[in-house]
Amino acid sequence: MSVHRNLIAGAWAQAGDAIANVNPSDTNDVVGDYAAASREQVAEAIAAARAAAPAWARTTTQQRADLLFAISSELVARRDELGELLAREEGKTRAEATGEVGRAAQIFRFFAGEAVRFGGERLPSVRPGIDVSIGREPVGVVGIITPWNFPIAIPAWKIAPALAFANTVVFKPSELTNASAWALADIIHRAGVPAGVFNLVMGTGPVVGAALVDGVDALTFTGSVKTGRGIVQAAAARMIRVQAEMGGKNPLVVLDDADLDLAVDCAVDGSFYQTGQRCTASSRLIVQEGIHDRFVEAVAQRLGRLAIGHALEAGTQVGPVVDQRQLDQDMAYIDLGVREGARAVTTGQRLNRDTPGFYLSPTLFTETTNRMRINREEIFGPVASVIRVGSYEEALATANDTEYGLSAGIVTRSRTHARHFEAHAEAGLTMVNLPTAGLDYHVPFGGRKGSSYGPREQGRYAVEFYTVVKTSYAA
Ligand code: NAD
Repeated sequence: MSVHRNLIAGAWAQAGDAIANVNPSDTNDVVGDYAAASREQVAEAIAAARAAAPAWARTTTQQRADLLFAISSELVARRDELGELLAREEGKTRAEATGEVGRAAQIFRFFAGEAVRFGGERLPSVRPGIDVSIGREPVGVVGIITPWNFPIAIPAWKIAPALAFANTVVFKPSELTNASAWALADIIHRAGVPAGVFNLVMGTGPVVGAALVDGVDALTFTGSVKTGRGIVQAAAARMIRVQAEMGGKNPLVVLDDADLDLAVDCAVDGSFYQTGQRCTASSRLIVQEGIHDRFVEAVAQRLGRLAIGHALEAGTQVGPVVDQRQLDQDMAYIDLGVREGARAVTTGQRLNRDTPGFYLSPTLFTETTNRMRINREEIFGPVASVIRVGSYEEALATANDTEYGLSAGIVTRSRTHARHFEAHAEAGLTMVNLPTAGLDYHVPFGGRKGSSYGPREQGRYAVEFYTVVKTSYAA
């Protein structure tokens, strides 16, 4: 099998070491081999991006819009094929994966429009005879580091605004999901992006990711808190612009007056779809005592019926965990929960299917407290805890008692409680009668506290990170 190469300065670079991309639904299936860039190649990519920056900054908004539109069109045309590739390398179901490719296409199309729409403003000076105008310029070379759990949508929501606002890019995807990243890079390359404007450097975090921090003008990262903290500190030491979107420990509050079916739908979708591997997944189900037992029983029944299997098999609702390391982490937290005194209503078990894969049944813990480590640390798997509370006030206080602050949801028929929750939940996103996960592409996305650092991503707000403001006075 030939090695998929990195894209540096407009050419597919000579490959050295390669990383095998293994299908988590069938570990006998190698999706492909992907070149691991050396530190020198990362430096070459950054140099190429820097050399290409001035000419790219002079392109017209129409040229950039046309490029982004062409990328979007190919993603639409190849949605099913790329969805299958994504499901094969990451393990989310075919429906989830094709939906994600469609989302990536929408993002490129949205930013094709933004490339034309964005602008500045003109203000009267407080002094006579002077004009003041405020404009936006590209930041320069943007480094992009992404995780494995949305291998095409997250790259899209960083690459599209970077290019739309005339920056050049060096992109490092997760080493677990190089296939979607490589396919996207190939599309961008063939769409006609000038040499050096967009570069792909695949490889491991400590080698390629760390090398990227040195030399770029801005760095946008999505991934775990641990990695994010290190990246923010390294970027601060160089005084470059940095944006980090990290983990969550998202609460879903269920009040006594909730529609039970809706609450169960929100919990099962938010906690267990995409194998619980979403930064916005609901991992803490904070349930008022009057509905608690009925809710737990109904969720447990639904979990018993979930079809867990090969990501590409018709009928599968939940695919495998992404790899052995994540599976080990999930199992370790399931053991920890039991040792901490939680009751497992359904216990995560390794499941055997026709193909060897990382299949894990869902875990629902009850009788947990918010002090337990399973309720404080991100597990990132098909595991959720129920925390019983007496009142709305206790539910809100419990929801906010966390070092994270990405998404927070509530299921209730009370407008008063819903509005109070919207106003007082310490999170970047609030959801009323909806799962904590599941977002639009045209509005800002991001969290508070330990979940996020820097300006928001997506929608019109993306311009804040990808441009610098210049204030110009003229007499
Ligand atoms: P991770 O932190 O292990 O890796 C993320 C990326 O950082 C990868 O490309 C990795 O190679 C790279 N990396 C690792 N070490 C590095 C280093 N020392 N220097 C530079 N780069 C390095 O995260 P992951 O396991 O890929 O993804 C799961 C995490 O991502 C979860 O915590 C999840 O909550 C988070 N996530 C957050 C959001 C969000 O928008 N808030 C979205 C999706 C996922």
